[in-house]
Amino acid sequence: MNARAVNKQQTAKPAAVPKLDQFRRITIKVGSSLLVDHEKGCVRRDWLAALADDIASLHGEGRDILIVSSGSVALGRTVLGLPKGALRLEDSQAAAAVGQIALARLWAEVLGDRMVTAGQILVTFGDTEERQRYLNARETIGRLLDLRAIPVINENDTVATAEIRYGDNDRLAARVATMASADLLILLSDVAGLYTAPPGTDPEAKLIPVVPRVTAEIEAMAGGAASAFSRGGMRTKLEAAKIATTGGTHMLIADGRVAHPVQRIREAALCTWFLTPSNPVTARKKWIGGSLEPRGTVHVDDGAVKAIFGGASLLPAGVKRVEGNFARGDCVVIRDGQGAEIGRGLVAYDAIEAAQIAGRNSREIEKVLGIPGRAEIIHRDDMVVGGE
Ligand code: GLU
Repeated sequence: MNARAVNKQQTAKPAAVPKLDQFRRITIKVGSSLLVDHEKGCVRRDWLAALADDIASLHGEGRDILIVSSGSVALGRTVLGLPKGALRLEDSQAAAAVGQIALARLWAEVLGDRMVTAGQILVTFGDTEERQRYLNARETIGRLLDLRAIPVINENDTVATAEIRYGDNDRLAARVATMASADLLILLSDVAGLYTAPPGTDPEAKLIPVVPRVTAEIEAMAGGAASAFSRGGMRTKLEAAKIATTGGTHMLIADGRVAHPVQRIREAALCTWFLTPSNPVTARKKWIGGSLEPRGTVHVDDGAVKAIFGGASLLPAGVKRVEGNFARGDCVVIRDGQGAEIGRGLVAYDAIEAAQIAGRNSREIEKVLGIPGRAEIIHRDDMVVGGE
């Protein structure tokens, strides 16, 4: 590093702490040790009611909210009379099968009492990593949010296999948050944030309010210890921070043990913010434009070129013909009448369907395909154009 760079680093102002009010779409991860009294195996109802008040007020102000809730195993194991301590995989899956019913009902009731509708989504690792399934999950979440419901998400523990599962809801929540293009992920935890050293044993330990980037030095602070009851320790939280911040989502770790934990964050309670240099839309566009191998081409007419440069989605009416054997969700190149590439995007129809609806009005989609489909062949959010 040259002297100027060192100097610049030393004099750089500390990164500003964002305010909760500036976020539009927030994913809140609720850990099992907060929701369930592990001694008695029952729900901490007063705490949950206070959290639900906080959530309802964020939602009532027009924000989209997603909840990633743990607790199925903790709730189910008591009902089944399983022993305390670590469970074998098949026992935790059985416990999850029993506990998830209660967990979903709990959220439906507690949000319903506040006039908010909950929708349960259980995802596996594959649902977030495999393209077709990722798109399906993303669309369902998007639709629920459009309809002003709150998706309540957990890992589908009963069918997840040992090797291919998240196992902890920190990383799952980060993946869900980026998948839903949330601009903030809150991990409500049994610690207040990331400390310079273990706070329980080191009186010198200081909470770090802002982490602009997860560096090796930051990772070293996390150590290996997991918190007493939840699966994810600080390590998995940092893994989550990496997933969230590279996907364009800010993340914060905050103490969830207090009453009204989200309200406390609003009132600037101590917590650790992990900042993303990007935003969900640009991160996604980078991924579409740079990382995906195109599987085909969509040739469009002059009107469509104009509309696309004006910021619109691509409608079937503007498509002249398609090439390639692409599936729904694949990346395709968009070319103008002269064959020049004007952009790329994720296509909402497979090649055969796209060819059938090319040149048609969106109102005719159902008649042509026999099923209703999206009005856009490539939605604006799924498209990167020119210098974007
Ligand atoms: N999916 C698990 C459950 O609901 C919890 C995973 C975690 O605690 O991170 O019990």
